[in-house]
Amino acid sequence: MTLQPRPGLLDIKPYVPGAAAPEGAVKLSSNENALGCSPKAADAFKAAASSLHIYPDGGATELREAIAKMESLKADQIVCGAGSDELLQLIGKAYLAPGDKVVQSQYGFLVYRLVAMQSGAEIVSAPEKNYTADVDALIETAGDDAKIVFLANPNNPTGTWISGSEIRRLREGLPASTLLVIDCAYGEFVDAPEYEDPLALVSEYGNVVVTRTFSKIHGLAGLRLGWMYGPKEVVDVIHRVRGPFNVNLPAIEAGTAAIQDRDFLKKSKEHNDQSLAFLTQQLGGLGYEVTPSVCNFVLVHFSEAPGKTADDANKYLAERGLIVRGVQPYGLPNALRISVGLEEHNRAVVDALEAFAKA
Ligand SMILES: *Cc1c(COP(=O)(O)O)cnc(C)c1O
Repeated sequence: MTLQPRPGLLDIKPYVPGAAAPEGAVKLSSNENALGCSPKAADAFKAAASSLHIYPDGGATELREAIAKMESLKADQIVCGAGSDELLQLIGKAYLAPGDKVVQSQYGFLVYRLVAMQSGAEIVSAPEKNYTADVDALIETAGDDAKIVFLANPNNPTGTWISGSEIRRLREGLPASTLLVIDCAYGEFVDAPEYEDPLALVSEYGNVVVTRTFSKIHGLAGLRLGWMYGPKEVVDVIHRVRGPFNVNLPAIEAGTAAIQDRDFLKKSKEHNDQSLAFLTQQLGGLGYEVTPSVCNFVLVHFSEAPGKTADDANKYLAERGLIVRGVQPYGLPNALRISVGLEEHNRAVVDALEAFAKA
């Protein structure tokens, strides 16, 4: 007998990250922070160099307390992870068994599919309307037996979101035995009044988990740091399945500095507001359909005409040193996802896509 992994694992298509940028090119393929990270976080990271021989605090206490203070949460209901990816995976590891049903929205973040398949669970997608999650479809798809519903709000790669009242309607329409995981990787970028920070729902409903990340507005994607907030029962289970030192020492130090650096957050938000408006207006003005986004990227749709497709545009941009993200794996073969860059990079994208439209 040859060595065999658990059934189903060889069906997994490994996640393909946004393409790396060759020397001199501009990387707009992974929704990273164009402004870098907080200088205070970078200093804390450097200072941690003298402690690399020491194990980190396995409970990441300092970081959890800093997050709890900033967000007015209970520190003992926070779990930190090596990116929110790890936390999503731990949730799957803790709650999913082979054959279980996991529900996501049609264009949901690809990691949810990975999480389901890693446990031998089945992932079912609920159709969207206008590239936006549809609560009725999610409730219907979940039925009475979904183990987990994953919802990114706002969502990657569409950049769209649903209101707090819609999220509540979703939670109330799901069975109590279904865990609702709300992935808030881009929550800090949103300021629409109807958008609601879902952290309050954790204590209100008891079967809601919220995940957050340091990779986007905090600009610490390379460090791998995220956190989740959940009911005590869920947190207790996640602690049992996580590695004892799952968050590294420099990440704890840099994350603690980052969460307190409100100036950097404000700067990042302002830069994003300006860039999103610029990209959306300019590309829209050139005749491209741009899905309205509240994240740090835009989803741009292309025609199916030969020479004018998303693939053609992707190549055209790459030849000009602009690396963006094809979203074929999401079932969006006619679109590209373009991350917000520095002002000159946003301008370069618009100029290149103007030339592409005319070519
Ligand atoms: C980027 C992103 C994350 C963050 O992943 P990390 O592992 O924290 O870097 C989570 N969810 C969505 C939808 C994302 O786009």
